[in-house]
This record gives sequence, structure tokens and C-alpha cells, in this order.
Amino acid sequence: MFDNIRNWRLRRIVARHPIAESLWRDALQRCTAARRLGASDQATLRVLATQFLERKSLEPTKGLHLDDAGRVLLAAHACVPILKLGLDWYDGWHSVIVYPDAFIPRRTKTDEAGVVHQTNSMMAGEAWGRGPVILSWADVLNTGKKPGHNVVIHEMAHKLDMLNGDANGFPPLHRRMDRRVWSRVFSSAWDSLKSEQRNGADLPIDPYALESPAEFFAVASEQFFEDPATLRQHLPEVYRQLEQFYRQHPF
Ligand SMILES: [Zn+2]
Repeated sequence: MFDNIRNWRLRRIVARHPIAESLWRDALQRCTAARRLGASDQATLRVLATQFLERKSLEPTKGLHLDDAGRVLLAAHACVPILKLGLDWYDGWHSVIVYPDAFIPRRTKTDEAGVVHQTNSMMAGEAWGRGPVILSWADVLNTGKKPGHNVVIHEMAHKLDMLNGDANGFPPLHRRMDRRVWSRVFSSAWDSLKSEQRNGADLPIDPYALESPAEFFAVASEQFFEDPATLRQHLPEVYRQLEQFYRQHPF
């Protein structure tokens, strides 16, 4: 019953505010993770992106102008992680604030509200526990220039992580997943990357992952969608856990 009402509302939203074909095709061209999907998943992504634009408020600031193409691109990136989970996984927050470029956050310390950030000074993105996602538009446009990087997916992964409390690299797992396996896989990957790093080796993942378990999950999520082959090759067990969590098989 609820599903029917829900589906009906959904179809109405999509019918009223469809994303124009040319804008959607343009977004697919520019979003590696979306381009990799099959036709039916791309169609689902388009519905989710439509709903995302309907439910969330994209708020350009500091003189940035976000045109329709930019909005659709941002929504496409943002909906990749929840393609098989549903937009409900982004409940509890409303705004995406977009700066023209890397920004310096107004606050100076990490507080108890579960604030997570990417660097201590200039930041490409930030996600607050029950508050907004903040993004640098220049970094969104740079997505994919460095393989494996996607600031939108990174911040959305923090949002998923924070669904069950602080960002700690432990999002709410599905019923058939095993928390102990998740912990074991992520901590043993962490340990071996740390020792590779001490030996001066090039890491197969952005070293920023080793800032904290929360960053490990967010950076691994970026790579899972942007450069799945590399993640699967070097961190196959992490890859498998993310496959189960996101319910996607990008490689
Ligand atoms: Zn982060």
C-alpha cells in the first residue's frame, strides 16, 4: 500500500520535473561512475537524481552560479552510492552548500556533533552529522582527473556512515552482513596500508584514507565507484564488503 503511494508520488515528481534529455546525457558523459552503469540502472539513477533535486536544496554561495547542467551533474554523482539503497538513505538533512572553490570552514575544531572534514585548512568538501553537505564546485568538476577521486561520493559516504551515529567507518550494515567481518577486513587493510606507507611504498589508494576509519570508508567508497578495478585488485576484501554494502558491482 505504502509502496504504491510512494511509487505514485515518485512517478508524479519525475513526470512533473523531468530532467531534460540533453542535460541527462551531458551528466552521464561527465560522471564516470554513472557511465559505467547499464541502461536500466542509468534510468533508475535518473529518477533518483530527479528526486534528489526535488528534495534537497542546492545552495551555491560566494558568487557561484550553478546552472541546470551543474545541478544535474551534482545530483548524478550524489545518487550513485544510493542507487540500490534508495533516497531514504539521505534522509535527515536538506542542504548542499556549494562554494566556487576550495574553502576554509568557519569553525576551527572538530566538535561532538559529528563534523567530518577532508583537510584542516582548505577543504574540498565537508559533511555535518545532521546538517548540510558542503562542496567545492572546482573539486566537483575535477572529479576523475585524478583516478579514483570523487568529492561528492566522498561526502555522501560520510553521510551514510553518520546514519548510525558518529562518522567512524561503520555505516548501518544490511541484515545479511557481518559486523565482525566488516571490522576485520577494514582494520587488516588499514594495518597493511600503514606498514606499506612506513616502507615508503606508493599506496594503491589515496593516503588520505589513513587519516581515520571514517576517511578510510569515504576514500574507499570513492575508489569503489570511480576506479573499481584498482580497488578490487589491491584491496579485494574491502571491495567485497563495499559490494555488499552498496549492493553494486561496478567491476
Ligand atoms: Zn572526509
